[in-house]
Amino acid sequence: MVPPLHAEFHCAVCGALAATLTLDAEGMYEHVHFMGQITERTNSQDRDALADGITRGDAAAIFAANPLWAPFYCPECKAVYCGEHWRVEMTFENDEGLPGWHDCAHGTCPHGHRRLVDD
Ligand SMILES: [Zn+2]
Ligand SMILES: [Zn+2]
Repeated sequence: MVPPLHAEFHCAVCGALAATLTLDAEGMYEHVHFMGQITERTNSQDRDALADGITRGDAAAIFAANPLWAPFYCPECKAVYCGEHWRVEMTFENDEGLPGWHDCAHGTCPHGHRRLVDD
């Protein structure tokens, strides 16, 4: 049995714990941060990139594998922020050509960069 991979990231502003990530041998990825506790199954291709990012403690690599796997990371600052420092807003968007509305969330980092954090 391969032990689960584990990483923690701290806020670039205040040093608070911003995210706790765990990837187990079954490919279940659990990430806890300002958007809550999220568990999802990864496919084998993405899993390697994710495992690499967790092993090296590299939030940019995790973001590159899937931006929604690292909502605590601002790619423009290349920095991690905690829930105190992200400003989160829920939005309801209507995808062009698709019926109905879906909700998603955008976060704005302390330097004013806005990104999708939940979809
Ligand atoms: Zn902070
Ligand atoms: Zn930023």
